[in-house]
Amino acid sequence: MKQIQTLIPAVAQGHWVGDGFPVRPLFGDLAFTEKISPFLMFDYGGPMAFTATTKKRGVGAHPHRGFETVTIAFQGEIEHGDSVGNRGVIGPGDVQWMTAASGIVHEEFHSQAFASQGGVLEMVQLWVNLPTEFKMSAPRYQSIVKGAIPVIALPGEVGTVRVIAGDYKDVHGAASTFSPINLWDIALDENKTINLPLSAGYTTLIFVRTGKLVFGGRTLGTADLALLTRDGDDIELKALENTQFMVLNGKPLNEPIAARGPFVMNAESELDQAVRDYQSGRMGRLEG
Ligand code: MN
Repeated sequence: MKQIQTLIPAVAQGHWVGDGFPVRPLFGDLAFTEKISPFLMFDYGGPMAFTATTKKRGVGAHPHRGFETVTIAFQGEIEHGDSVGNRGVIGPGDVQWMTAASGIVHEEFHSQAFASQGGVLEMVQLWVNLPTEFKMSAPRYQSIVKGAIPVIALPGEVGTVRVIAGDYKDVHGAASTFSPINLWDIALDENKTINLPLSAGYTTLIFVRTGKLVFGGRTLGTADLALLTRDGDDIELKALENTQFMVLNGKPLNEPIAARGPFVMNAESELDQAVRDYQSGRMGRLEG
């Protein structure tokens, strides 16, 4: 059985990413450390109600290199456009798995339809590190709609697991990854208990989105996150209310992490190179 190694309570006050995304950083001081490899950063956006507007809310063109951004929408819609020519809307239940790798320039906004009618935005963005051998690969884009993500009913009809990446028991997830990662979006009913199979030696993080979850002798509520021990190959969780939570489980990369703003490489010199490549236009430009 895995134990809780570090509990990170929800922060009271987050920060804004551009003028569209009020986020709470979920990893706290663990962000960009080997303790949570292959994961880097995890922002919880909203939930927040926005009034209707004709304005574009969000973040304009900016680069990334050396890792992947995984954007998951729960409420509201995010519109995305990038230097590779990908453009699309991420709606409730959809996942965008963007591999920046050698470099991409993109923008992230509320969709025009969502902005014009207003409403609640709730989403997460997870940054996943790339193994050194793939950091300078060509960018890749996986646009995964809700219907393409397998949903498994838990035994006894106590809830469901959406398998976004990796495997849950013998069911394969929708996204392809460059290192072994399991990413699950789970709903568990009030007063129900489940035992989750996890890999020994892997990093495991549990993020409670709504509700209350008891495990390892602690109770986690909304926007709380726990890092589990690498020892142990399962965890038992009980929901005190109808609860929605995410499980991040991945094999540590065991490679040096050098991070600066939107770039994550293995060495400072590679970050310097990333800045030069972006400034000289080698990561591409956004059309239109
Ligand atoms: Mn971005």
